[in-house]
Amino acid sequence: MSDLLPHPGTGELFGSPVPPGAGWPGDPAAADTPVAATPAVVRRLARTRDLRELDARVSVCRACPRLVAWREDVARDKRASYAGEPYWGRPIPGWGSPSPRVLIVGLAPAANGANRTGRIFTGDRSGDWLFASLHRVGLATRPISVDATDGQELIDTRMVATVRCAPPQNKPTTVERDTCAPWIEAELALLVDSVRVVVALGSIGWDATLRSFRAIGWEVERPKPRFGHGAEATLTGPDGATVVLLGCYHPSQQNTFTGRLTEPMLDDVLRRAAGTGTLSG
Ligand code: SF4
Repeated sequence: MSDLLPHPGTGELFGSPVPPGAGWPGDPAAADTPVAATPAVVRRLARTRDLRELDARVSVCRACPRLVAWREDVARDKRASYAGEPYWGRPIPGWGSPSPRVLIVGLAPAANGANRTGRIFTGDRSGDWLFASLHRVGLATRPISVDATDGQELIDTRMVATVRCAPPQNKPTTVERDTCAPWIEAELALLVDSVRVVVALGSIGWDATLRSFRAIGWEVERPKPRFGHGAEATLTGPDGATVVLLGCYHPSQQNTFTGRLTEPMLDDVLRRAAGTGTLSG
């Protein structure tokens, strides 16, 4: 752990990475939250039926040695522009409503975004785009997302990452993806009673969503639905319940700088999501 630095919102001092239960805003874990250090223990600890406990267990996971080293190195070294801030440096649990109608599935946390702020999509350019759009379509209370004390709240919506730790070059390995899969599968199993629409960001988020729903016993159309911006598929649960899957280009700088994804395009998909499963939608 590096020197203590003040949290930008509260001024309270934290080391980087942040110890569980140290008082970081929104930290779901306590000092005694059980830690998964192997894939087998991830599978065992993911069996909880308590979403808050699941979030806590995710947030202290250490099952992928390469990702643990990377997220903690970034937390200690810090980008120059954030040198005066503590970095969360831990896995990023899902965030938002515990019984959402809309679920947004992303790839993995950003090294200097969520890995710094401790909250998914918070503190980077992708998140700026996403939260601004969510606000425009009525799914977020504010257009910004800076840190866990900014007052932001999602409305009827939750966000999750497929892989919960920041990976080098934003590229987790297949083994890391599979090691992390029980966390998102467990979370989906706890959320499916309320979720009516899933927005998958990018083809990786799309494939991960299909894989995760299959893993918890849901049926996916055949042939496998193809990802595209605005693509739509239907997922069917064992009891016949259905969830709409919407594809959306990832609001990465690669997509937003080049104009591949524009604000109206992002708003279109999120507006469809906002209207799905409502009494009038
Ligand atoms: S990527 Fe997932 S399984 Fe691997 S250490 Fe992070 S939270 Fe644990």
